[in-house]
Amino acid sequence: MTVEHLKKRVQERMDWREQDKIKQERLQARQKEIDEAPDTKFTDFWCDDCELYVTAEGRKSIANDWNNGVYIAFYIGNCPLDHRVTRRITDTIHDPYFKHFKRTRSEEADILQPDDYGFKTLYGNQLDT
Ligand SMILES: [Zn+2]
Repeated sequence: MTVEHLKKRVQERMDWREQDKIKQERLQARQKEIDEAPDTKFTDFWCDDCELYVTAEGRKSIANDWNNGVYIAFYIGNCPLDHRVTRRITDTIHDPYFKHFKRTRSEEADILQPDDYGFKTLYGNQLDT
């Protein structure tokens, strides 16, 4: 085995250990996030069935994400009509409330802006003066 070959193997081993360390730290941070979240929490939810924002008591729930080998935590609540609503504690990028919020915000942003041609047609040029 050449020295270069050995060096490469040592480097690979170090890289692997470094990656493993980062992975462990992420897992710990995630666990801390789950542990520190209160068991119940009054929070805002988006109910997809009612198409309404509702405030309800969420109960912390933890599930195993088998695909990624991690735990995912979320709050489960019920809207006034008893539909199940959820909020993410971990992986907030998948949070249904924020997802909906962002979607409606970008839809609003798509609604005519003052410098749009359509806006001027509808409202005239009074903003130009
Ligand atoms: Zn509902």
